[in-house]
Amino acid sequence: MQAPDRISEAVQGGLEWVNALSLDSEGFAAEMAFRAGWSREKAIERYRRLFRTGATHGIGVRADPVVRTESEESPEGEVLKFTQRIAANPVDGSRWGVGASGGSAERLAAFGTLETESVLIPMIGRTGRSAHTLCVSSQVGCAMGCVFCETAQMGLIRSLTPDEIVGQWFAATHVLGRRPRNIVFMGMGEPLDNFDNVLRAISVLKDHNGAAVPISKITVSTVGRLDGLGRLREKLGEPGWHRLNLAVSVNAADEALRSSIMPVNRSMPLSRLREALVDWPVYGGGKLCLEYVLIPGVNDTMADVHRVAEFVGPIDAHYRRSRGAATPRCMLNVIPYNPRRDSPWPAPTEESVDGFLGALTALGVYAKRRRTKGRRLMGACGQLGNEAIRGRSSVGVTVSASTRPAP
Ligand code: SF4
Repeated sequence: MQAPDRISEAVQGGLEWVNALSLDSEGFAAEMAFRAGWSREKAIERYRRLFRTGATHGIGVRADPVVRTESEESPEGEVLKFTQRIAANPVDGSRWGVGASGGSAERLAAFGTLETESVLIPMIGRTGRSAHTLCVSSQVGCAMGCVFCETAQMGLIRSLTPDEIVGQWFAATHVLGRRPRNIVFMGMGEPLDNFDNVLRAISVLKDHNGAAVPISKITVSTVGRLDGLGRLREKLGEPGWHRLNLAVSVNAADEALRSSIMPVNRSMPLSRLREALVDWPVYGGGKLCLEYVLIPGVNDTMADVHRVAEFVGPIDAHYRRSRGAATPRCMLNVIPYNPRRDSPWPAPTEESVDGFLGALTALGVYAKRRRTKGRRLMGACGQLGNEAIRGRSSVGVTVSASTRPAP
């Protein structure tokens, strides 16, 4: 008769064990060798099976349940927003009990619940093949208070643990059946405000024994927290991390205007942000992505176009000088504003978006438009946020367009 599986015994005994979604394969093997006497081979095989097939039997996983999905058609396919229920109190996500069926329910009952939101965005590539980008949340709510953003209305409720971040990939792949090709940290929250957990989640997502998402397909998007950028830069120097992509929300190239729509600019101004970005390491021919949410009557004038070109110019010039490269280093991603609830601003017209892009291009800025997807279901850029939770905390970020400084 075969010896009983010690992890299964532990599950039945109600012991707390390791949550595999919070560990890379080597970390999982080390934990299981210590806790259950598993060989490395056995642990890696189980880990691989979990991530490849979603088979949770006999392995510690706290998979947060998908409680709602909403979809919207786009020219490139169906946009799918999904909501997972998580515990209001994170306790310690890495140690929560195993037994895929039991752990979550008990935990949710014990501590109350919150919800995360994620979006699967369809794309059709240059070869005509379709794929999905998964937009993940790193926090429930956000402390950054960007005035144009739905999530800011919630304030920060709490940061997500590594397993809760990886759990969004797990749900997309093994519950909803859409394995994403790309992962962008552009959902709820400021990733660099939850630095350690986000980096640990990425180390799990890129593990070749697990989700095996190439790091070159993962993008961290930030408002430009200088402290976090410094730490991220150090991380990029470590083996296996140099191809991680960075996107920075600029949204205005004037200090006063940016401070009025992005409070972070008051303590971490554009001038210092540009210093941090001017020699940001970008792998090969990759681009540093700068994001610009185009808001009618706020940041869409010709004066704004010129300021953006002035902001980007030195970063591109430094790159060309240091590399002898003919191509620009920055890609300015123009995002037509997606109105939040009770927005004082409408979405921009197609003509104004085209005009803004054309004017940038004429000044030598490499600019692209982000195609709008999921706006009706409040799943587009800047629209995530749970109305039910929103009432718990408000940061009072309403600013009228009339506060815009004179050009
Ligand atoms: S735009 Fe991003 S950083 Fe700003 S409030 Fe929204 S989620 Fe937070």
